[in-house]
Amino acid sequence: MSTRLLVRYPGRPVRSRIVIGRGELARLGRFVRAVSGARRVALITDPRVARLHAPAATASLRRGGVEVGCIVVRHGESAKTPLELAKVWSRLARLGLTRRDAIVALGGGVVGDLAGFAAATWLRGVPWIGVPTTVLAQVDSSVGGKTAIDLDSGKNLAGAFHQPAGVLIDPDLLRTLPARQRRAGLAEVVKMGMTVDASLFRWVERHRIALAAGHPRLLAQAVERAVRVKLRVVRRDEHEREGGPRTALNYGHTLAHALEVAARYRGLLHGEAVAVGMRAAARLSERVVGLPVAHRQRQDAVLDALRLPRRIPGVRIDGLRRAFAMDKKRDGSKVRWVLTPRMGHASVPRPIQKRLVEAILVQLGGRVR
Ligand code: NAD
Repeated sequence: MSTRLLVRYPGRPVRSRIVIGRGELARLGRFVRAVSGARRVALITDPRVARLHAPAATASLRRGGVEVGCIVVRHGESAKTPLELAKVWSRLARLGLTRRDAIVALGGGVVGDLAGFAAATWLRGVPWIGVPTTVLAQVDSSVGGKTAIDLDSGKNLAGAFHQPAGVLIDPDLLRTLPARQRRAGLAEVVKMGMTVDASLFRWVERHRIALAAGHPRLLAQAVERAVRVKLRVVRRDEHEREGGPRTALNYGHTLAHALEVAARYRGLLHGEAVAVGMRAAARLSERVVGLPVAHRQRQDAVLDALRLPRRIPGVRIDGLRRAFAMDKKRDGSKVRWVLTPRMGHASVPRPIQKRLVEAILVQLGGRVR
């Protein structure tokens, strides 16, 4: 049985329809027509997903009476650049995509962020439909309308809030996902458990071994549970207002983004960087907002079971300092961190003393020289 959710945002005419169900890709064509009315789409994807899932997506679109033009972007985080976005715009121009048409993003968080931003900017905004194909994208990035690209000076610095008309989540697409990618995506579910919903955390804790092994039914349940939690948050705070509920979802991301920038997006997957970031944020939470040690240990035990990294991998602390200085959420010279005073709760992001942060980075293996 598939789940259908309708998301409305208070005071705005915007709405997104979400369908979650195994095998739903076969109904993509009808879904696109129903949520956007489009009879023509630009399908944006990356080379690997193009090979694995674009044929089925294209066939389903055509069966639903939707004409398809395909745009294959670079692979990995290096696709979230101004250059790649400009290439997408040129392709959209060649396809002659109008406001009656739509963009379909078939891929992980990278394709979703890039294609969503292309949809936000093309002709000042065209409808888009997300078809997330990684755990990370299904549980987190496809919902909530954040789109962005990276600049040399930092991650996600140019972007827009642009809600998708629809999101079609088919957990069967995760079958082809490498195990490491699958486990990295689950870091975002642990994040939501630690900061928003303790019962989600306890559920992941109970099923951590099966989830790490990629049990299909449990993965599909994890996706649905996480999407419901994320929706609860973004419905109340669509645009992540200062100190609003959505800021909780940045738990672990202050260090994660700095690690990704300092390592030039090499070596660590986004979810892995978030895992290290959560280990640091939990240690800071113990010191600053009194997170019980046992809660931090339980978080770390689940991250360990998912075989997510424990330490900062070969990155120097001065590189992290430079990356922190570019953080969108800094307050003067201090970087703001989302902390958790107890499992299932988050505190308003607050500036933390550099010395305290650096002591924790050293504990986690950050290199001083
Ligand atoms: P990704 O999009 O790079 O995908 C990871 C890899 O998996 C890629 O090599 C891709 O080709 C491959 N892949 C995708 N689906 C596959 C499948 N079904 N089978 C086999 N291979 C598949 O990475 P990601 O982890 O999905 O996303 C990370 C990005 O998401 C980061 O840029 C991050 O900033 C962004 N993000 C955005 C939000 C948001 O709210 N917009 C939230 C969290 C993360």
